[in-house]
Amino acid sequence: MTELRGVGIGQGVAQGPVVRMADALPAPEKTSSTAGTDAERARAREAVAAVAAELMQRGESAGGSAREVLEAQAMIAEDPTLQDEVDARIDDGGTAEWAVYDAFEGFKATLEAVGGYLGERAADLDDIAQRVLAHLRGVAASGVPDPGHPFVLIARDLAPADTALLNLEQVLALVTSDGGPTSHTAILAREKGIVAVVGAADAVSLEDGQTVIVDAAAGTVTTDPSGEQLERATARAAERAAAVDAPPSPGALADGTAIALLANLGKPADAADAVARGAEGVGLFRTEFLFLSSAQAPTIAEQRTGYTELLEAFPGKKVVVRMLDAGADKPLAFLNDAHEENPALGLRGLRSLRASEDILREQLTALAEADAATSADLWVMAPMVATVEETKYFTSLAREYGIRTAGVMVEIPASALLADRVLAHTDFASIGTNDLTQYTMAADRMLGSVANLQDPWHPAVLRLVGEVGVAGARTGKPVGVCGEAAADPLLAIVLVGLGATSLSMAPAALADVRLALSERTLEEARSLAEIALAADDAASARTAAADAVAALSPHQKEKKS
Ligand code: PEP
Ligand code: MG
Repeated sequence: MTELRGVGIGQGVAQGPVVRMADALPAPEKTSSTAGTDAERARAREAVAAVAAELMQRGESAGGSAREVLEAQAMIAEDPTLQDEVDARIDDGGTAEWAVYDAFEGFKATLEAVGGYLGERAADLDDIAQRVLAHLRGVAASGVPDPGHPFVLIARDLAPADTALLNLEQVLALVTSDGGPTSHTAILAREKGIVAVVGAADAVSLEDGQTVIVDAAAGTVTTDPSGEQLERATARAAERAAAVDAPPSPGALADGTAIALLANLGKPADAADAVARGAEGVGLFRTEFLFLSSAQAPTIAEQRTGYTELLEAFPGKKVVVRMLDAGADKPLAFLNDAHEENPALGLRGLRSLRASEDILREQLTALAEADAATSADLWVMAPMVATVEETKYFTSLAREYGIRTAGVMVEIPASALLADRVLAHTDFASIGTNDLTQYTMAADRMLGSVANLQDPWHPAVLRLVGEVGVAGARTGKPVGVCGEAAADPLLAIVLVGLGATSLSMAPAALADVRLALSERTLEEARSLAEIALAADDAASARTAAADAVAALSPHQKEKKS
């Protein structure tokens, strides 16, 4: 047996025979067209339009975030710049096949050179080009195979169009040799709960029919496993299926320490799904998402309606509403009107609300009214708080409106470093690891070229989280985490070890985080946090924590012996 390593998505484990995705269509020869420029242009246009329509249609049947991904792909297929590139090659005498192939390759190389998030989008272009080529040649595009029995799918990377429509009765697990944790394959696999290991470079060596165990929790693919290993994997899969299907229980560690598991929401309509997945309340309601396209500030009545709908979905439960967080990646026309060279460092979050205090006061009024009309336990927090003075300002203003629980987000290193003083003047802290990572690493969260630095596993970020955790314990105030980091089951344990008392995440991540926490004690979480803090960089912190968990887990211990 051998073990291949990649990045696991979620906590699942599955086993079965390998089936490889068919190889891509061969690249077309660079031959001159005999049909003439007009005919080739028309063929290329027709093929692109047909593929775009097919992608849209697949998106419609898949729904959810797959729909957004596929609609984006359809738009890329019909991108005017890309079409100009195709036309230019046809005008040079090329065939439609060659022109499409070469133009997409050129665009892909540009994205790969940028790297990071955009680099990971390069694989999506391959899929579009393949579909257009297949259409031009009148053959079927190489898609997910259908061997007639359940299988473990091995692919270089899966196109969103394929991942979205995977038959989950047949595909036991997914292993890709390319792609990373932020690729679309990973995002959709996470959302659909597919057992997946991505970026396992050696997966290209796997052969059809070979039996493998795919262990997402460990990020491994074990080839030709022993009977005993297969039995253990079966038992673990059954255990996990039972845990995921069981009526969701409140988040807790193995020693009974309660860690509330909450949902991140952007609109009240998503509340029902969060409740069904066992969210114990809301840890972050992003109010700015309600008004991203509004030119004018929303009225009190309009806001009250939205907040009431949200609070009504969580009777008796904690709901943390964040005040409008405008600026940089989420500009609101009515709060950010000045041009700034560096909007991420500008008048944003609480700063911009303070500059338009009437809007801040109106939002507090609407929240207080919605609170009075419902029975949820409303907590309100300010985004992007940098100083003790800002903390005092917001907390006392919220109290003026009768808000019982007011807190601040810790997303700026300054407030993490002075967390004891910040917490002395407010009721709670909620750590936004997305922005905290951006500001700690000086890496724009919107920029693909620095995406490798945007990793909350970085020990510098973890150390700041730890500062807030210690301050929370000293002052007896709750410390939540509501950035993406909380949705990573392994990192979730580390965050608890650093002092987080609740975790808030996309509802789809709740089951895996709940399971991961239930397997560790507080003492173990603390020791994992120490291990991660001692690493030199994000990748080593993640690997060291994964190895330590593997050593702690009985099934992993047996596997190693
Ligand atoms: C964060 O920064 O981690 C956060 C939760 O807020 P947002 O992602 O909305 O900026
Ligand atoms: Mg933020």
